[in-house]
Amino acid sequence: MVTGNAMLCGVIGNPVGHSLSPLMHNEIAKALGLDYIYVPCPVEHGTLGEAIRGAYALGFAGLNVTVPYKQEVIPFLTETDVSVRCIGACNTLVRLPDNGAANKGYKGYNTDAEGLFRAMRGQGMEIRGRACLLIGAGGAARAAAYLLVREGAASVTVLNRTPDKAEALAADMRRMAADGGEIAVAALPLAQWRELPGNSYLAIQTTSVGMHPHTDAAPVEDMDFYRKIAQAVDIIYTPSETRFMKHVKAAGGQAAGGLDMLICQGVAALELWNPGLHVPDEVISRVREIMEERLNG
Ligand code: NAP
Repeated sequence: MVTGNAMLCGVIGNPVGHSLSPLMHNEIAKALGLDYIYVPCPVEHGTLGEAIRGAYALGFAGLNVTVPYKQEVIPFLTETDVSVRCIGACNTLVRLPDNGAANKGYKGYNTDAEGLFRAMRGQGMEIRGRACLLIGAGGAARAAAYLLVREGAASVTVLNRTPDKAEALAADMRRMAADGGEIAVAALPLAQWRELPGNSYLAIQTTSVGMHPHTDAAPVEDMDFYRKIAQAVDIIYTPSETRFMKHVKAAGGQAAGGLDMLICQGVAALELWNPGLHVPDEVISRVREIMEERLNG
C-alpha cells in the first residue's frame, strides 16, 4: 500500500542500478503493510550536497548511501553516530526532527557493522571473548573492525596483502577501543599467516577475493590456514558459497556467506527510519529467497 502520505526513502550512489536495496525494502514494506516507498536515486558526480539538500526539501525520511559516496557524504551531515565516526563511512541517513533552522538535515549512521553482527548472531557466531582474524583491510573491513571492538573480541589479528594497510587498521582499532574494553590487536601480512599461534579462530573474510566472476580464488589456498579457523563469515554474497567458505568447511569449520549481512544492514536502516518496527524472521527469510533468486537467476 503506497498512499499520498507514504514515507519516502531511497538509495543515493553512482551507479545505483545494480542495488538490491529497492527490491529488499519494498518487499519488506509489502509484507508488513507499511505505507512506505524506497526509490533508487542516481547522483551525478559533484552534486552530492545538492542531492542531500534536495532530498531534505522533498521530505525524504531516510537515505542509504552507496559507492562512491560513503565517505564523501560525511561533511553534508548535521550529526553523526559513533558508528560513522569509528568506521569513517556512512551508509544510512536519518532525517532529524525539524526543531528550527539550526537542526535541519540528516544524522548519519553506518549499519554495516550492525548487519554483520545480526548475521553472525543468526549463525551462532559469538564474538565476545574470542580470538578473531580480520582478513582484509579495505572499506568493508573497517565496519567489521568496529564490530569486533564493539562486541568485545579478546584479540584480533588483521591479515592483509598490503601490510601497511593492516597496520593502519590495527592502529585505528586500538583507538576505537581506547574508551573501554580490553582488546589485543595485531597486524600480519597475509602471506605470513603461518605465524598465527591459535587454532580455533573466528574469522571475518572481507577481501574481494573469490567474488563473482573470479570464483575460483581464495585469499589463502593452503589448507593448514583453514585448520586454524573454527567459524568464519565471508562477507562476499556472490557467489552464495565462496571458495574461502568451501575451504573452511573442508577443514571442519563452520562458514557463512555475506547475504545475511546485506539484508540485516538494510533491516537495521529500516528500523532507524521506523522506530519500534520489528521485522519478523519469516519476512527476512522470504526476502532472502527473493534476493537469492535475483542474484542467481
Ligand atoms: P576494498 O576497499 O577495495 O578492499 C579490498 C580488500 O581486498 C583489500 O583488503 C585488498 O587488499 C584485498 N584484496 C583485493 N585483491 C586481493 C588479492 N588478489 N589478494 C589478497 N587481497 C586482495 O573493497 P571493500 O569495499 O572493502 O569490499 C570488499 C568485499 O566486501 C567486496 O567483495 C564487497 O562486495 C563485499 N561487501 C559485502 C557487504 C555485505 O553487506 N555483505 C558489504 C560491503 C562489502 P590490499 O589492501 O592489499 O589491496
